[in-house]
Amino acid sequence: MKRISSKLALLIIAIIFISSSLSMVISTIFGYNFKGEIQSNQEAMKSSVVTLYQDHNLSMDEIIQVLKNNVFFITLEDNLYGYDLSADEITSINQGQSHYYSGKHSHLPYTLFKIDNQYIKIGFDHNTTLFHTLASRFGLTFFSYLVVGTLLTVFAVKRMVKPLTKLTEATKEVAKGNFEIQVKNKGKDEIRLLTDHFNQMTRELKSIEMLRKDFITNFSHEFKTPLASIQGFAKLMAQSNLSFEDQQEYAHIIVEETERLSHLSSNILKLSKLENQEIVTRYSEFSLDEELRHCLLVLENKWTEKNLSLELDLEPVFIKGDASLLSQVWMNLFDNAIKFSSKNQTLQVQLIDQSDCVEIHIKDEGIGMSDEIIKRIYEKFYQGDPNHSAVGNGLGLALVKRIVELHQGTIDVESQIGKGSSFTIRLPKT
Ligand code: ADP
Repeated sequence: MKRISSKLALLIIAIIFISSSLSMVISTIFGYNFKGEIQSNQEAMKSSVVTLYQDHNLSMDEIIQVLKNNVFFITLEDNLYGYDLSADEITSINQGQSHYYSGKHSHLPYTLFKIDNQYIKIGFDHNTTLFHTLASRFGLTFFSYLVVGTLLTVFAVKRMVKPLTKLTEATKEVAKGNFEIQVKNKGKDEIRLLTDHFNQMTRELKSIEMLRKDFITNFSHEFKTPLASIQGFAKLMAQSNLSFEDQQEYAHIIVEETERLSHLSSNILKLSKLENQEIVTRYSEFSLDEELRHCLLVLENKWTEKNLSLELDLEPVFIKGDASLLSQVWMNLFDNAIKFSSKNQTLQVQLIDQSDCVEIHIKDEGIGMSDEIIKRIYEKFYQGDPNHSAVGNGLGLALVKRIVELHQGTIDVESQIGKGSSFTIRLPKT
């Protein structure tokens, strides 16, 4: 597999090469006309040679000495045999015109002309120090630009990619099941954002994993307790010297514990079904006030046993929803209100028809809850009051919350220790 850092570095280096080569080509095409400049310089030198020769009567050797410089040189040619000239070009040179050769490949530009039967060549000396200095400085600049650019690119890319490498290593750890891992990144860019999201993901995974472990522990505990009790009482019943009353009592306990077990497993099944369900499938319109009255009637034994006074204020309201699912909400909330109330207290149920929703208030004067308990009441298997833990299994409110959510509703609770609790459910009308 190709590493992203090598890919990025190669890409940037290729860009440096291509852009610098292209810019050289562009500057050669559109930039300063080097050959034209040489020609006009050589033309100027030719004028100087002619002036010095004709007006100042200097010999050619003297002129060569005077005009010699670091870029151009002057030589006397006996004939034109060594030059690749056409007949017309030779004729024009012999008639006093100058001939400029612009240079090709390794041949350098020169100017040829004739004075008094002497052929004179003004050449271009590329071995001069000035030319060499310029060329070598240009070459060195270009070379160091490429080397420094390449080194800086490799360094910068490595730095840029480092957080990604760290993230890749961390992802491997997560794949192995290590959710403790957190990646540090001090930057302020998109990779920092990615790192933050990664860290958030591992934290979430860790808490899900903890919940899963807690669930298994709670689940096996809730199952083991009634099973141990059934086993114990069944062993006692196997003894032959038991009185009839004891036998009756133990059989009653075993029945209660099996009911508890069956209640627990059916609640777990319901909850797991509802957690995997995204919408309410059995929608129908029904009278909510009637449904609430019906649920209270089913629980009549329980509230009369505690001699609770019931205060009902139910506006007649029809809503759309899954009536049988919602009945589990009312049953659980009424059951809790009765369970956590003391004798002779009052249980209030109010149903208000608001413009966009219906509001159901279920208020008791029971033991109430602390803020710590309130925070956890919707957790599976959570039971805030140890005195009542034998009745129920801590799944009731988890079920209630899920059913209300499936109906796009909300549930809120207000409670004070020793003063009672008030649950408010809001369900949209449509
Ligand atoms: P369960 O009732 O089986 O214990 P729930 O999920 O119905 O489980 O309730 C979770 C916890 O919330 C209860 O154990 C209790 O501590 C607290 N709770 C719920 N309703 C009330 C209430 N009306 N008054 C006081 N505490 C309550």
